[in-house]
Amino acid sequence: MKTNLWEKYSDEKEKAVKEFCDDYKKFLSECKTERECIRYAVSEAEKNGFKSLKDLIEKNKKLKAGDKVYAVNMDKAMILFVVGKQPIEKGINIVGSHIDSPRLDLKAKPLYESQGFCMLDTHYYGGIKKYQWTAQPLAMHGVVVRKDGTKEDIVFGEGNDAVLAITDLLPHLERDDRKDIKGEDLNVLAGNIADQEAKKSQFKNYILNILKKKGIAEEDFYSAEIEIVPAGPARDCGIDESMIIGYGHDDRVCAYTGLQAIFETEKPEFSVMKLLVDKEEIGSVGATGMHSKYFENAIAEIMNLAGQYNELALRRALNKSNMLSSDVTAAVDPNYVSPFNVETDAHFAKGINFNKFTGARGKSGANDANPEFIAQLRDCFDKEEVVYQFTEMGKVDQGGGGTIAYIMAKHGMNVIDAGVPVLNMHAPWEIVSKVDVYETYRAYKAFYKMPINN
Ligand SMILES: [Zn+2]
Repeated sequence: MKTNLWEKYSDEKEKAVKEFCDDYKKFLSECKTERECIRYAVSEAEKNGFKSLKDLIEKNKKLKAGDKVYAVNMDKAMILFVVGKQPIEKGINIVGSHIDSPRLDLKAKPLYESQGFCMLDTHYYGGIKKYQWTAQPLAMHGVVVRKDGTKEDIVFGEGNDAVLAITDLLPHLERDDRKDIKGEDLNVLAGNIADQEAKKSQFKNYILNILKKKGIAEEDFYSAEIEIVPAGPARDCGIDESMIIGYGHDDRVCAYTGLQAIFETEKPEFSVMKLLVDKEEIGSVGATGMHSKYFENAIAEIMNLAGQYNELALRRALNKSNMLSSDVTAAVDPNYVSPFNVETDAHFAKGINFNKFTGARGKSGANDANPEFIAQLRDCFDKEEVVYQFTEMGKVDQGGGGTIAYIMAKHGMNVIDAGVPVLNMHAPWEIVSKVDVYETYRAYKAFYKMPINN
């Protein structure tokens, strides 16, 4: 086993880790939905000299080497691009991560009454253990769109706000295992005061009156995206403060580290791109998921503004690209060692993690990265003294998982999974090691400088 990174780091580097992770914690605490992540990324991109692709197209502005552009897709996905000195058709170094995380979404008709309570009905999103979402403070983040097109951004349950909660049965009355909780049981307590003036549905009406003051009617939930997420900020974890516990490390930790890396990339030899996508947790589907044509269309537009577009050049660009499918993996858990192969799985404080392949059992559904590509990456990271580990996720027959890797690989580009090891993956509160976060950022920065010779 390689040494623990904390032993290796100088005091100076530890200081850099702390500063980097303090900013990351702030991001993670504030960005709990896809839209919130995109809002953050756009504002930071503009501060770092990135221009809106939409504006550039409207003004028919030409792009040249060193120019920085971003394009947003439905406020839930985004690309950031820096034009290289080499023609774009020579390939792009891409770091792609997803910004959706498991949670509970409000239904289109969420409000109802039961036993003198006003409740909110939810439908869970992504792979969750349902019992983990009960008996803890929850917040509500999202957007309501009215018929006239005006939007109301909602954040409730953070800072000094009241919070929301889902109840769980006391142990004394429980016969069945509480792990039996069904999706339909995940209903949020919204209130317990009756509206005396209302003839019926008094508890529901009391809440509706509060919403009315914000200009939200019950029917407006038809056109809303509201996510129930854990309440409160990301925090340091451990007596030694070596870790961070927070909601949505999967995969916002790779989104954040990749963003910081591209912000610091000036005038690259080959074009570079950071990709933030939605819907990975439910199969990368829909207009904002990785299967959408949005990504290719945006590259076509950028090549066009750079005076380099034709169909063949676009196909060559996609074919010759390198990609880090930057997603998290499961770290070996000291409480539950048996599903892991401790020799071949990821550990905390050993640096960025690479999965040559993911998939389940006989690698089913995996993107299996080429050794030629991996050799190039090793050379690139060793030169920059980036610390990394090559691992699998769990014992061979145990299970497995997928990322966006296989979707990008169909263009014929080189793709490998690369990200941060996580404990408690897909739980409301996930844990990462600070040094792994920092080493991942360093890896993405090094990758953005890597020559392409595909
Ligand atoms: Zn993920």
